[in-house]
Amino acid sequence: MTDLSYLKDDFPVLDDGVHFLDSGASSQKPIPVLEAMDNFARTSYANVHRGAYKLSVASTDAYEAARRRVAEFIGSSTDDEVVFTRGATTALNTVAFGWGLENLGEDDIILSTEMEHHANLVPWQMVAKRTGATLDHIPVTEDHRLDMDAYAEKLVPRVKVVAVTGMSNVLGTMPDIPTIAEMAHAVGARVVVDAAQLVPHAPVDVQELGADFVAFSSHKMLGPTGIGVLWGRMDALEETEPFEGGGEMISEVSLHDATWAPIPHRFEAGTPPIIEAVGLHAAIDYLDSIGMEKIFQHDQELTAIALERLGDVPGVTIQGPNDLDRRGGVVSMTMDGIHAHDLATILDEQNVAVRAGHHCAKPLMKCLGVAATARASFYVYNEEADIDALVAGLRRAGELFGVN
Ligand code: PLP
Repeated sequence: MTDLSYLKDDFPVLDDGVHFLDSGASSQKPIPVLEAMDNFARTSYANVHRGAYKLSVASTDAYEAARRRVAEFIGSSTDDEVVFTRGATTALNTVAFGWGLENLGEDDIILSTEMEHHANLVPWQMVAKRTGATLDHIPVTEDHRLDMDAYAEKLVPRVKVVAVTGMSNVLGTMPDIPTIAEMAHAVGARVVVDAAQLVPHAPVDVQELGADFVAFSSHKMLGPTGIGVLWGRMDALEETEPFEGGGEMISEVSLHDATWAPIPHRFEAGTPPIIEAVGLHAAIDYLDSIGMEKIFQHDQELTAIALERLGDVPGVTIQGPNDLDRRGGVVSMTMDGIHAHDLATILDEQNVAVRAGHHCAKPLMKCLGVAATARASFYVYNEEADIDALVAGLRRAGELFGVN
């Protein structure tokens, strides 16, 4: 078992012994991230790109250094392809509204999937209504994977964009993005990847991924809330109109017209998340100091243990692939006769923190035929003892509800 237990002291919030299994919603922050933000705010903070004075220059340097760090982390060929946003949701809305409204019309098809988070579904519904484009979805197979045969059938030349998750936040399924992108590009479609669960948990190189847009959030990868990333291939960003107007995103402005600043600044209207960018930079340094391969391996080992032990708990059904093939550290479950919310409450009484509900994936819940699931998600600070506690808590819930 990959041992990352030496990291635990970096996460003071875990000191009271909570078995924190909700990193899929938001991860905890290690001391180096908290200190980097605190230190920056104490010594170097000012608004960016505005002042000629030293503090503003230092702040701008730190903000742009964060952009460089993100670019390096995901293998971007240039820093200019990295746009800072408020989070994955804003990044995906930037693509849907900025690219979609410009490039889609009545004859076009937007192809998404049945396993998307609402963040990669609802913006496309809104854009489909405004443009008259048709919205279609790739179904999920019985073993909870993306139906690639159905994808091949649905991928007709009218498809102009494929919007797909890099890792389902409910099932843990990791669709084969390089193949999906290659197939989409063969019919001239753009590919948008919701990588909110992927980038924090697996090595990602945007060149290998092959997509045109990749969106993710800092707060799920040990960084602060309030900042996320839209990576876009330069030619795709050039096809995209700014989604928000305001300060900092313009080149010239008159009373009736404006021209845009160069990419990426045209997509960053207003004062950006400056302290948060410094925090994200520190979070990436922290993740890299562990190694993304090792983090993925660690998540997979915990997932293997969880799948095996949960399978032995009476009444529990795993909602997601039963093996580790293309699967991340998200384990959703239902238990016969117990609502997911009751399950989560009983687990909380045992100091086990899991998420319960539809996980912002209501259409997927419908496909699965369930109203809600309880979801355990793993990250660097989790260990086997957390799964033991989860299993003990589920057995306790079973006893209370008479499940056998
Ligand atoms: N996509 C997926 C798969 C997610 O799990 C989430 C968050 O739960 C999001 C998008 C949205 O991320 P954010 O709320 O940080 O914008």
